[in-house]
Amino acid sequence: MSLKEKDPKIFSLVEKELERQIDTLDLIASENYAPKEILEASASVLTNKYSEGYPGKRYYAGNEFIDQIELIAIERASKLFGMPCANVQPHSGSSANFEAYRALMKEGDTLMGLKLDQGGHLTHGSPVNFSGQLYNIVSYGVDKETEQLDYDAIMEQAKEVKPKVIVCGYTAYPRTVYFDKFREIADACGAYLLCDIAHIAGLIAGGAHMPAGPYADVITTTTHKSLRGPRGAIILAKEEHCKLINKGVFPGSQGGPLDHITAAKAVCFHNAMQPEFKEYAAQIVKNAKALAEELKKHGFRLVSGGTDNHLILIDVKSKGLNGKIAQNALENSGIITNKNTIPYDTEKPFVGSGIRVGTPAVTTRGMKEEEMKYVAELFSRALEKPEDEEFHKKLKSEVKEFMGRFPIYGDL
Ligand SMILES: *Cc1c(COP(=O)(O)O)cnc(C)c1O
Repeated sequence: MSLKEKDPKIFSLVEKELERQIDTLDLIASENYAPKEILEASASVLTNKYSEGYPGKRYYAGNEFIDQIELIAIERASKLFGMPCANVQPHSGSSANFEAYRALMKEGDTLMGLKLDQGGHLTHGSPVNFSGQLYNIVSYGVDKETEQLDYDAIMEQAKEVKPKVIVCGYTAYPRTVYFDKFREIADACGAYLLCDIAHIAGLIAGGAHMPAGPYADVITTTTHKSLRGPRGAIILAKEEHCKLINKGVFPGSQGGPLDHITAAKAVCFHNAMQPEFKEYAAQIVKNAKALAEELKKHGFRLVSGGTDNHLILIDVKSKGLNGKIAQNALENSGIITNKNTIPYDTEKPFVGSGIRVGTPAVTTRGMKEEEMKYVAELFSRALEKPEDEEFHKKLKSEVKEFMGRFPIYGDL
């Protein structure tokens, strides 16, 4: 029996969500559309299996094929990111960071990460997150003028603080992360370097951002953002951290792996090794740069003045708005974004002065630089009359018509 007959309520909501995805302009920098083959692996009978442990060392029988799948995923992940050791079992980016930290630090040790309101992730030391509760957090920031990382200042701070771990790689930072400079900083203060490449993994895999592999002690990444895989994460590490990380993931913090997701991750790594993925990654960056230029023409101030990667942080205060109002006006117009704080923001995090946008999703739908002009125009128009619901309704149907030219899944 199909879902449609068994549980029509849930079936219809899934259908509606698909429709929403088709009809709206998704500019959320951390979202993407997983291709059909990845949906297929994710929705497979592998979800039935228990396979606590690792290939060849399971606590349950019947893992002949699961072992082969996990070994392929491990091998591909190692090759893709240039690290000798890969653990493909973490359920999410936050779990991966939890597990990586536990392998590298003891409770109370010092962790240095970028401030949350300047582009760091919750798991990089926020007081409401386990990271801020288990470790001694000393955050670094971006320069007030350039709104970019000041590597000399971070070096000085790191030498003084002597952290056990430095984490780099962010959630809302539109510029290149110079992993080589962070390696120098980590070496100068005797810290481990953890590169959290969740946002830019697809760019790295496709050669559109410098790699982290040659510089990191440990890499964590999600697989569902620019990498365009299933919702999940992986940890990559130097040989010396391999054992501790594997123990930390299982039995340290997780039980059985999600074997259907492991298979989907393997497919995602295979896709990311193809020549087309290089083109995809390069196009994401070209689109972001084009969109940034167009937004500037519409009078928006961009944090740090532009972008080197897939994301743009727009200061909507420059139009007399705040993040919350802007996010709502955009959503009512069929443009899906998220409000965000900007460096040295004076608004509360729940309001924020910024809107974060990114191009991985629209690039998957086949948009190029030419379309970014219209995307910027739609964005700008949606914010012209932030309180006018009728106006937004009309714009929403215009957005829908535009998105109709860029199908996601064909006849799925
Ligand atoms: C998205 C993200 C994470 C967390 O991923 P979840 O799967 O949402 O837990 C961690 N670090 C960075 C830098 C991220 O952008």
